[in-house]
Formats: sequence, structure tokens, C-alpha cells
Amino acid sequence: MSLVDRPISVSQIELFKKCPKQYYYRYHWSGRKSLPDKKTLPLILGSAVHKALEFFYRSHMAGVKIITIAPLEQEFTNALLQLIEQAGTSLEYKKKRKSYSSDDAYKTATDQELAQCHATGIKLVNLFLREYYASQARYKPIHVEHKMEFTFPDFGLPGLKDVSILGFIDLIDQDTLTGQTRIIDHKTSGDFDKSLIGTSLQLTLYNYYVSRYLKYDTKAVAYQLFNTRDPDLNWLYGSRDERYYLEMLKELNAIIPCMKNGPFYKRESDQACRFCNIATQCQALEEIKEPEPVA
Ligand code: SF4
Repeated sequence: MSLVDRPISVSQIELFKKCPKQYYYRYHWSGRKSLPDKKTLPLILGSAVHKALEFFYRSHMAGVKIITIAPLEQEFTNALLQLIEQAGTSLEYKKKRKSYSSDDAYKTATDQELAQCHATGIKLVNLFLREYYASQARYKPIHVEHKMEFTFPDFGLPGLKDVSILGFIDLIDQDTLTGQTRIIDHKTSGDFDKSLIGTSLQLTLYNYYVSRYLKYDTKAVAYQLFNTRDPDLNWLYGSRDERYYLEMLKELNAIIPCMKNGPFYKRESDQACRFCNIATQCQALEEIKEPEPVA
């Protein structure tokens, strides 16, 4: 199966929208395996919180209700340690070795960073459990980390012909009072772009899939925001309907052929480049040659 025939993941679409050139280097370029795969503590913290929530909801669905904090804290701590171990030398700290006079001083600083990361996660899972039971467990989980995979039907849109989409939905739950189904994405961040609740293509895709393929009559989408900067928990609510689906299908019809064949132009945004983890390589590669469309 060639690269262009595989299911397209939601994260690939998001990356292409962020910067087509970065998408090219990650997914088409023959030297992509040599690109750095840096892991940062905020990323690892987010994954560990996700793992703890998955454990909570899966236990709940299996009939084992977690009502005390100890198992949740334990799950979070185990996940964090495992992810740090897996990251190994690709883990990048905020502190750089060159800013310290000795290995010992550097180790003390990175240990503090790790301890801070752990303390933040512990606060977040505590806030989560408290809030869950404050709502008197009104919302019943139906699907956790649900694998979304589907092929678009033939709409007569050439860009979507035989295109399959792949993604994972954090949580689909149901309000036991109203019967309303919600699609929830958990976000851990210190600086979240709140406008995404109204504009995110990811949420529209999830809602489209849940209503068309799982056959839930749902319009509600939500972000549960785990603020890592000043540990706090918030919700953002939005909705999706047929108008959003139409816009999404038009957008995907335009961009999916470009994801397969280019052009892989540079995103004109300093912001994207500032946080790009292949910025150094991108600059060097650009001097060698421009990316070319896939044959
Ligand atoms: S440095 Fe900028 S242009 Fe280059 S891949 Fe990253 S985001 Fe795209």
C-alpha cells in the first residue's frame, strides 16, 4: 500500500493545515526517519493525564467505580514514569545543560522540573475526580479512546474519492438526565486557543463520524481543558451540525489532494516556525532543495 493510499489520520490533516512543508518532511520526504522526535515534559504530562483519565473511564465502564484519589494518582504516576523512560534521550528539558556549571547542578535543575511536572499532574487528576463527583456522576461514559475509522461515501467530490480517515476520540458520554450525547476532547495545555471550539476541523470530523456511523443523534462537542500553567480545570462547549459538515467536506476535498501531491508550501507564520521542532532541519533542507510532489 503506498503512502497516499493509507487512511489519513486527523493529526496528519491538522499538521498539513498548520504547515504543509512540515507535513511533507514528516510524511513524504525520503529522509523523514532522520528527523528528530523530541519529547518535552508538557507533552509527556498531557499523555500521562490522558492515560489516567482513560483508566478512570474504562474502570467505570467495567463496573469498577473509582471514588478515591489513590488509584488515579498511582495510574498517573506510573504512566508519567513509563513515558519518561520511553522518551530516554529524546526528552528535552526547558533547562539547557550549557546554562549550568556542572552536571550535578544541571541534574538538580532537571529533577526539579520533573517534580514540578509530577505535582501539576497530581493536582489535575485531583481536580478531575472532585469535579466528576461534584456533578454526581451525571455523565455516563459510552466510548473511551474510541477508534474512528471510516471511508467517505461517493459524494461526487473527487478529492474525497476512496479516502479513509483515522482518529481516536477521547470520550463519548451521555447525560443521564437528558439523554444528550457529547463528544469530548481532553486538552492539556498552558495556553489553549479557545476559538478552536468553534472552528476545529477535528471536532467536526468526530461529530460527523459519531452521527453518521455510530448513529448517535448528537450536536454537542466539548473540550475539557486541563490548564498546566496554573493547574485548573475548565470546559468549553460547542456544537456541530450539517452546515459544519458541508464546509468540512469542501475543505477536505480541497486539501486532501494537496496532502497527496503537494504543493507543500511554507506556512507564512512566524508563530508556527517558532514552535516547530524541525525548524533547524527545515532551514538546512530549504537551502538544499524545495520539496517536490510525490510521484
Ligand atoms: S520551520 Fe516553519 S516552515 Fe519550516 S517546517 Fe517548521 S513550521 Fe514549517
